[in-house]
Amino acid sequence: MLDFAAIKKAARACEADMTKFLRDLVRIPGESCGEKETAARIVGEMKKVGFDEAGIDRMGNVIGYMGKGKTLIAFDGHIDTVGIGNRDNWKFDPYEGFETEKEIGGRGTSDQLGGPVAAVYGAKIMKDLGLLNDRYRVMVTGTVQEEDCDGLCWEYIIKEEKIRPEFVVITEPTNGNIYRGQRGRMEIRVEVKGVSCHGSAPERGDNAIYKMGEILAEVKALNGKLGNDPFLGRGTLAVSQIYFSSPSRCAVADMCAISIDRRLTWGETYRSALGEIAALPAVRKYRAKVTMYRYDRPSYTGVVYPIDCYFPTWVIPEDAKPVRAMVKAYEGMFGRPRVDKWTFSTNGVSIMGRNGIPCIGFGPGKEEQAHAPNEKTWKADLVRCAAVYAALPGIYTSGELEKAPAEISKSRRAVKPAGTGSPKKGAKTAKAAAPAKKTAVKKPAKKPAKKSGA
Ligand SMILES: [Zn+2]
Repeated sequence: MLDFAAIKKAARACEADMTKFLRDLVRIPGESCGEKETAARIVGEMKKVGFDEAGIDRMGNVIGYMGKGKTLIAFDGHIDTVGIGNRDNWKFDPYEGFETEKEIGGRGTSDQLGGPVAAVYGAKIMKDLGLLNDRYRVMVTGTVQEEDCDGLCWEYIIKEEKIRPEFVVITEPTNGNIYRGQRGRMEIRVEVKGVSCHGSAPERGDNAIYKMGEILAEVKALNGKLGNDPFLGRGTLAVSQIYFSSPSRCAVADMCAISIDRRLTWGETYRSALGEIAALPAVRKYRAKVTMYRYDRPSYTGVVYPIDCYFPTWVIPEDAKPVRAMVKAYEGMFGRPRVDKWTFSTNGVSIMGRNGIPCIGFGPGKEEQAHAPNEKTWKADLVRCAAVYAALPGIYTSGELEKAPAEISKSRRAVKPAGTGSPKKGAKTAKAAAPAKKTAVKKPAKKPAKKSGA
């Protein structure tokens, strides 16, 4: 039986060190593809607190190990942050931050530098209290480019570094709750062609913008008719960008294109979502091209790992073993937790959505702080997360969760995404993601591409 009181006490004793570590990370700006210094700072802290291994992979992800046991349990935190937006909306310097008795402010405090901070110290507590044993080994990651292309880093870790943990704790903010799923998403482009002519005689041409006008009305109407799921909620879509080409302001436009931000609920996949758009009458009438965007920005180390902008929906059952272990760890110290889901997207889209490795969410900070000005987190969250992280692997590998045979058979279902409704006709499961293409190493592009802001 774990000594929960000792774990709690050890976590409280780490509060000052975690605060300093997080404030140091805030002072190192690190947007997607620019995480080099942040990664180095995290490796330094891992070495300081006694990790058995700490290094950086070829893509630039921090990977640290504590312990030598059999079952690999990972704690993932992405280390890139979004930019600061309009500086005038901040009441303090986002890259200096602030600290009160209870709070820590600064860009990335909630989303989600606090996560890796708590994970590093959770592992330190395991070591300090002698909780490590031959049953488990803990991996703590500081992953890159999540804000730009969620899950890409783990696609690389799983497929190229050949690392496959038993399950992964996602340390993104969970408002004090435990999360077991999220809606997926994808980025769709619809493009329609026309023929330009002089604007003084529009009847000679074929105006692509008018065609898109008809398509837009149908796309807008489609939003209310998408899939629904009792746990994850509705699928949604929003037109996020519009482009055109035209020889001049005095000409008929010969191309018009839109981007669509599509959020996918349970049973919806890239195939079903593309199919719905392609079936719209105006899209068919004008032979518009419906495609998925691709992401190919080089990481800060120069690795290019192109992937479709498809981020599959994932859910694990409430009685899956990682959920029960997390609930038990939490209950041992902090009472009954709420088990819920994220509103936004996480690296779980790759880990569970594409690769079927169960994910469970528990992280410091609040979702509504993410990407907002005056972002902050709470010291008590860092302490609570470090304590729960420290207790989790021991509980998961102790055998105490596998008493009843019925429970074991239930937990096996965790490796498959849980459907609460049958997928739509013609839709494939979330696992049917298009694979990433081969790695190529290129010099980083001088001008950063447009960001998606997942
Ligand atoms: Zn995040």
